[in-house]
Amino acid sequence: MLKVNDINVFYGNIQALKGISLEVKEGEIVTLIGANGAGKSTLLKTLSGLQKPKSGTIEYLGETISTKAPQAIVKAGISHVPEGRRVFSNMSVEENLELGAFTRKDTSGIRKDMEKVYDLFPRLLERRKQLSGTLSGGEQQMLAMGRAIMAKPKLLLLDEPSMGLAPLIVKQIFNIIEQINKEGTTVLLVEQNANMALSVADRAYVIETGRIQISGTAAELQASE
Ligand code: ADP
Ligand code: ADP
Repeated sequence: MLKVNDINVFYGNIQALKGISLEVKEGEIVTLIGANGAGKSTLLKTLSGLQKPKSGTIEYLGETISTKAPQAIVKAGISHVPEGRRVFSNMSVEENLELGAFTRKDTSGIRKDMEKVYDLFPRLLERRKQLSGTLSGGEQQMLAMGRAIMAKPKLLLLDEPSMGLAPLIVKQIFNIIEQINKEGTTVLLVEQNANMALSVADRAYVIETGRIQISGTAAELQASE
């Protein structure tokens, strides 16, 4: 589904990604694990068109997307949930979800899709009229994910959904990630929390200072920890 071929990404003269190649197959949960500053967010930003690789290519469903604009990439079926739970805090939960469907021409199914998001995240249903800025951190993470799902992605890019959240909430969010995957969405999950990430992933890559150091099935990586 997704093939990253030898990409190099720079910020000025800082090289954040050094010859990264990786693959995600349809139906998988793939995780990219690494410490702070390793290049994880940069990879997701590059996949979603926010950063351009200096060299290398990204193929998605047989098409080169590394030259496309972010909006075209969302339309092609890739949704990105950036780190830091970006929600529009002065808008309600419901309004945030509506915004997630911005790329869709046919708006007739939006209500129904919102119901599906509420099935996944019942806490959002209870708070649907509430301003997003008043939600807890975990709820904001759920909302950011729900908004991405409103674009009906085939591939969901998640940037550190566990960051700064209590273990119990993290567990809930990871259960929901598995459920989203079971319902047919392929997932690329970036995490510092290797244990949690490996517990849901099929395959994993470990990134250190811009390079992939290890790759394998989640079971292989769990055994080597
Ligand atoms: P991670 O997501 O793994 O924490 P990042 O992708 O955010 O890592 O960062 C990778 C490297 O690129 C780091 O050295 C970081 O300081 C640098 N970097 C990230 N964003 C920028 C930016 N906008 N400008 C300059 N350097 C950046
Ligand atoms: P966004 O996710 O909104 O694109 P960025 O992560 O690119 O935000 O960072 C926002 C601002 O902070 C940018 O001006 C960027 O250049 C700067 N920045 C972010 N990370 C770094 C870094 N590690 N080193 C230097 N500047 C950075």
